[in-house]
Amino acid sequence: SRLYDVTPPARDPRLLEQSIGAERYAAFAAAGRDAAERFAGRKIVNINSTPAGGGVAEMLESLVSYARGLDIDAQWHVIEGDERFFEITKRIHNHIYGLPGDDGPLGEAEHADYFAVHQGVQARLAEIVGPDDIVVVHDPQPAGLVPLAKQLGVPVLWRCHIGVDVSTPHDVEGWEFIRRYVEPADTYLLTRVEYAPDWMERGRLRTLRSSIDPMAPKNRPLEPQFVRDVLAHYGLIAGSAPAGLTFTRKDGSTSPIARRADILQAGPPAPADAPLVVQISRWDRMKDMPGVARAFADHLLDTDAHLALVGPAISGYADDPEGAEQMLEAMSAWRALPGAARERIHLACIPMTDLEENALVINALQRHAAVITQKSISEGFGLTVVEAMLKGTPVVGSTVGGLLEQIVDAESGLLVEASDLAGFADALRRLLTDADYAAKIGDAGRERALDLFTADRHLARYGKLIGETLA
Ligand code: UDP
Repeated sequence: SRLYDVTPPARDPRLLEQSIGAERYAAFAAAGRDAAERFAGRKIVNINSTPAGGGVAEMLESLVSYARGLDIDAQWHVIEGDERFFEITKRIHNHIYGLPGDDGPLGEAEHADYFAVHQGVQARLAEIVGPDDIVVVHDPQPAGLVPLAKQLGVPVLWRCHIGVDVSTPHDVEGWEFIRRYVEPADTYLLTRVEYAPDWMERGRLRTLRSSIDPMAPKNRPLEPQFVRDVLAHYGLIAGSAPAGLTFTRKDGSTSPIARRADILQAGPPAPADAPLVVQISRWDRMKDMPGVARAFADHLLDTDAHLALVGPAISGYADDPEGAEQMLEAMSAWRALPGAARERIHLACIPMTDLEENALVINALQRHAAVITQKSISEGFGLTVVEAMLKGTPVVGSTVGGLLEQIVDAESGLLVEASDLAGFADALRRLLTDADYAAKIGDAGRERALDLFTADRHLARYGKLIGETLA
């Protein structure tokens, strides 16, 4: 196993001013100066298990780079395990979410193999973490590092981005497995208090919302014509893009947009002027991509809308061994649809080889979409929804987990029970057929995302909570 540094360069927090306004930016910058003083001489070492793909990597990239821009020595390191390790961590994950999994055990043999990966990087951890530093361990995969970091005598926060409401009957096996490691953390940071298992001492429990960066390649403003060109170029909508299409990278340089020969798709591109319903997710059972296709095929073929289900090319996620299987399952569900539905439903796997280009395509899709859906069976937070809200695109989510907090039903989006396919289709129909209503919901979503779920709010709260852990 290996622990390696992926700390991004500093990003100027002033970039945020464009979207959050001068007044809010000034307050944020002042809080940043206080935090820089408070944490002077201390590194804040974040550790997770993947450098790219999924919400956690997305957030770490922006939060760590803005913190560095505020003269706070935040770092980001990634633990790399073997196949067996990720098989065990996926099993833990499935148990926490109560999903039927591979039925494999979570016994002492699994503890031994899981913890061996963490022990394998213990020496490296001791090199990285000095006596004045602070460690933030993200999610169950690197949780074995909590006790090892505690042995170094530093404050340790365990940030758990996943979870389900534990007041409903739930499976405790996954939680019990990681309890052995995370219980000694000084602070538990959960997305919602409802996610906390009983054994978590309430005095050490704090909540923290997730966030997005309005100026990241995934979210920054794009010209409408450029949006259409990018999507046509990728074959996601019909039409041809002008030759020599380029985009601007974060560092200001210009790159050609590659026509991706390796993009895997099913279904014809949607006509450029057809309303497009889009769900963007990892290929994961919890996201229920086949359920979205079924709802659309059964209830919405009488509209002029099309549906695109978009996920990463399957090699994208090191810590997600079920991705390939789930992607193939979505493909076979698509193949089993009647021809009339296949004409209107499009599946695409977007390569993750160039993350900035991937972000650009996702950004363009979220802007082009008439509606963005997230019909998850379970969802810890749901960044894709906030990304769409910030762009003013109306959203339909399911009544689970973090989505309940992000979307105020019938105000900043629509919420439907995940199992209610007809209700889900009705919500889509309403947004597809009533332009004023869709615009109103989209505008309110944008306000809400800016107000609650942006990087400056998130960083300020992190600073406060880390400060409290030190006190
Ligand atoms: N994402 C992406 N490409 C994809 C699928 C997803 O860049 O093909 C991004 C998506 O835009 C979002 C993140 O991955 O930023 C997913 O976060 P979310 O909280 O929605 O779900 P998670 O994957 O963490 O369960």
